[in-house]
Amino acid sequence: MQASVAQQLLVLELQSLDNKIMQADTKLKSLPEIEQLLHIDKRVSSASDELATVKAEVEQIGLELKRSEVDVETVTDRIKKDEARLASGNATPKELEQLQHEIVSLKKRQEELEEIELEIMIRSDAASARSNTLTTDLTSLQTLKDEITGRLQTATGEISKLIADNNSARAAVASKIEKPLLDLYEKIRANGGGVGAAALVGDKCNGCNLAINAVEMERIKSLSKDELLRCEECRRILVRI
Ligand SMILES: [Zn+2]
Repeated sequence: MQASVAQQLLVLELQSLDNKIMQADTKLKSLPEIEQLLHIDKRVSSASDELATVKAEVEQIGLELKRSEVDVETVTDRIKKDEARLASGNATPKELEQLQHEIVSLKKRQEELEEIELEIMIRSDAASARSNTLTTDLTSLQTLKDEITGRLQTATGEISKLIADNNSARAAVASKIEKPLLDLYEKIRANGGGVGAAALVGDKCNGCNLAINAVEMERIKSLSKDELLRCEECRRILVRI
């Protein structure tokens, strides 16, 4: 294929713009904020799950505590009644003895129940503290998430603008390239990992980075400048610069 030097240089210019677009696209997809947000979402999800469990636990312990309070109250009431009966002076000696025995065993029971109540209160405090910690954690995570989302939006906006600008520049350059040459470039680019044209630097193809052998270099030198070259190794359009 024949193509003027100016046309060949336009193809290189197009390649340079395509490189910038590809790089920006890669950067867009690999912004660290994307990974950070995924990580935060995992932490939010695990903290939310734990919080739901802990809240159910707090509720459950609350019920246990109420039952335990009623148990203590019941025994305390019976002790008061027995003591009142004792103090009344109306009881028979046999009854007095029974009452005294009962009060001793009721007080022992009262102590046991108070121990149980205390143990439930400690568990309740621990569960409430964990619930508060998780709630605070979730608030902090949300703040962090908002902050990173903001950074991601800014970075995405900047890169997207760069891509849009390069695409406009690309369209302007492409419109100046003759159709058969442009089609060839696009075809090679599609199959060549985004690279359709490369410069010949010394005896090296900039596309595949391989040196062109001496015989081929001699042949290239003998060709007219308007002769469109292709790299023998990677088949990309090779532009003499
Ligand atoms: Zn090559």
